[in-house]
Amino acid sequence: MIKIEHIGIAVKDLSAANEIYTKLMGYEQYKTEEVKSEGVTTSFFKCGESKIELLEGTTEESAITKFVEKRGEGIHHIAFAVDDIHSEMKRLEKEGFRVLNKEPKRGADNKWVVFLHPKSANGVLVELCQDVEASVIQ
Ligand code: ZN
Repeated sequence: MIKIEHIGIAVKDLSAANEIYTKLMGYEQYKTEEVKSEGVTTSFFKCGESKIELLEGTTEESAITKFVEKRGEGIHHIAFAVDDIHSEMKRLEKEGFRVLNKEPKRGADNKWVVFLHPKSANGVLVELCQDVEASVIQ
């Protein structure tokens, strides 16, 4: 793991959350992006080497919509940047972690992402992400 790439926060209303986080951080989000395949709209705030990702569910079936309904708003996942997502997936599977994706998928902010089941990581949903440009995956 290279660094904490971002912390994902599930919110009910992205524009209201953007206002709150703009006040909190002292500056605005640098991008807002819809990820249709995941049923979410996200916005990102830089914080040094890391980011805050706000996520609002856009469909009833979205994992974020379900999370907010069940548990309310709050921290949804922690994302670690990795150099080689395939070798990290293999390494973590060997260590007994449950990798939720067979193959990396395209996430927000130009990343390949995979998730680890929270039950295998002390209740925390873990995301691994790798920059698309830095990868050799086609
Ligand atoms: Zn994320």
